[in-house]
Amino acid sequence: MTNDTRKIRKLLIANRGEIACRVMMTCQSLGIKTVAVYSEADKNAMHVAMADEAVHIGAPAATESYLVIDKIIGAAKATGADAIHPGYGFLSENPTFANACAQNNIIFIGPSAASMEAMALKGAAKKLMTDADVPVVPGYHGDDQSPELLAAEAEKIGFPVLIKAVAGGGGKGMRIVNDASEVSSAIEAARREGENSFGNGKLLIEKLIQKPRHIELQVFGDQNGHAVHLFERDCSLQRRHQKVVEEAPAPGMSSEMRRAMGEAAVKAAQAINYVGAGTVEFIVDVADGLDDAPFYFMEMNTRLQVEHPVTEMITGQDLVEWQITVAEGNAIPLSQDEIDVLTNGHAVEVRLYAEDPFNGFLPSIGTVGLFNPFAETGANTRIDAGVQHGDEVSIHYDPMIGKLIAWGENRDDAIHALAGLISETPVIGLATNRDFLLRALTHPEFIKGDVHTGFISQFEEYLLTPHDVGAPEYLLAALAIFANRAAHAEASNDPWSALDGYRMNLPHGEDLKFEDAKGDLVVVNLTQEEDGISVSAGEVSLQASEVALHGSVLSYSEGGLRKQLFVHVTDSTVDLVDASRTLTLKRHARDGGGGDDTDGPGTIVAPMPGKILELKVSAGDTVAKGDALLVMEAMKMEQTITAPRDGKVASIGANTGDQVGDGHVLITIEDTE
Ligand code: ADP
Repeated sequence: MTNDTRKIRKLLIANRGEIACRVMMTCQSLGIKTVAVYSEADKNAMHVAMADEAVHIGAPAATESYLVIDKIIGAAKATGADAIHPGYGFLSENPTFANACAQNNIIFIGPSAASMEAMALKGAAKKLMTDADVPVVPGYHGDDQSPELLAAEAEKIGFPVLIKAVAGGGGKGMRIVNDASEVSSAIEAARREGENSFGNGKLLIEKLIQKPRHIELQVFGDQNGHAVHLFERDCSLQRRHQKVVEEAPAPGMSSEMRRAMGEAAVKAAQAINYVGAGTVEFIVDVADGLDDAPFYFMEMNTRLQVEHPVTEMITGQDLVEWQITVAEGNAIPLSQDEIDVLTNGHAVEVRLYAEDPFNGFLPSIGTVGLFNPFAETGANTRIDAGVQHGDEVSIHYDPMIGKLIAWGENRDDAIHALAGLISETPVIGLATNRDFLLRALTHPEFIKGDVHTGFISQFEEYLLTPHDVGAPEYLLAALAIFANRAAHAEASNDPWSALDGYRMNLPHGEDLKFEDAKGDLVVVNLTQEEDGISVSAGEVSLQASEVALHGSVLSYSEGGLRKQLFVHVTDSTVDLVDASRTLTLKRHARDGGGGDDTDGPGTIVAPMPGKILELKVSAGDTVAKGDALLVMEAMKMEQTITAPRDGKVASIGANTGDQVGDGHVLITIEDTE
């Protein structure tokens, strides 16, 4: 479309993170100016840097910034934005917000408030769908809410049943009931949860589908009453009703079933005069396989979904562009017949989260390290992210780091490409689910296509067993420390290099010390030999030659084989990231020098990029462990770097006011005579 018909010339994105960046990419390609909004916590965020303009809208808590309708509308008016894209989450399905946009003459990129309201309550939505001839899960969603009637209806449906709060969301207010004796307590509990969490205690009852698949249809409607679908996505790999892996098309789905589900989804959209991008979610009962399996309407999400990229990859369409086009009052870009012949290949997406699957999926926060969403990853892969190396994942928002997506001619190729992308995408600095995602994706049952919502709990033991860390990993950590020193010595050409060389020529080498998970000491001997480095821990050893560190990639040869992995060395830890494992090994803190404890991280490197504010020591000074050496500013915070050991300051690698990179050698400390 040319700019002549463009009504939207400036777009405000009422969101943050990856989806804000994603929307801006399309705006850039369409020549639409962008406005970001940001909270105090996000002033250095990627979405702010990417936008043409940015408006500060308040404190970190979403309730004081991203969720405050007046502030968002105010920002749009102040910057002269013609339209607002809500992304997903936050205000995206809030009818009051859609109305506020309309009242202020701002185009809301999404459906009408009335469409959102029609789908907001599960019971009313099911009634609407039944009237429109869209199949719903057999059950009761009537107005009579007396416990006796609900119990009788549960009996009629046949156990097991699922009781749901009609206003529920995110899996809340749901109870499985296996037999009649549990009904009344489950009704009471679900009602209480509905009242407390959503201010609505109304319930519905459904047949519990025992082996369900979650298959959803991407739909689009325009202002002329047309609606189409862009095929399905299978989001069956879930953990506690949260999607983990998504793909398109659904594995094993016949074209007849696709047509039937597509038609049902379009009917659902038309029943509520839907405009824009929406998703109709179905639950499919695959107890007897997918062929001719019954499918039922579950709910409709009246916004763009997190997993929309898999649909984009199999159709070659930009759904955000479609959203903008339709919001401007134009027709849907393609007819259903044109769309039907578009589908090509297979796409898979995983959600990379800052959480620790090996520790109960505990959310983690911190500074993201090594992660580069702009890395050259190949034509068939894509990374959508809102953070990169050096950015913070904070407690304030969703812990999603980004999405990794891959396309292939067929499902096997797509899985293979995505596994490759995950392997090449290291993330350190905080716990992530990267390794867990790779295990799920490469699990034989997943590869076979036997997916269902119980998959993750079924294969929990395989998916969630922590990595084994033993001598071989500590040997690699020692090699990383050696390579890191050599690389920094070479880069800064400081006296440490001579010292290192001297030390390394000691006939018995040097002992590097670590602490294992139990807190026990692990000693690795590192000896420089004629043709390389030998590292050993007890009986286990490794002879490595051609050891080199380029950026964060450690490479070495062992027995004629060239190997490489990502590493990051600090005074207290060594991160090792190989194709399938992300490990953080703890270095043993030096206990004040002396004795046989000849090692100690004598090289102090910048833990992250930052600015040197103050040097507290000079070359030649004697320092004790814990003494302040310098103050630097990193991540907008002052950090005092202290001496990890006793000794004498041998060299200083930075001046006050210098901007230094991650890993820059700041100070070296040597033993006092
Ligand atoms: P919420 O709005 O709380 O997310 P949904 O109704 O969308 O609730 O259901 C969430 C998830 O619960 C689905 O993705 C599916 O895995 C499971 N689920 C929902 N209804 C049923 C059912 N009748 N039988 C089995 N599982 C169900």
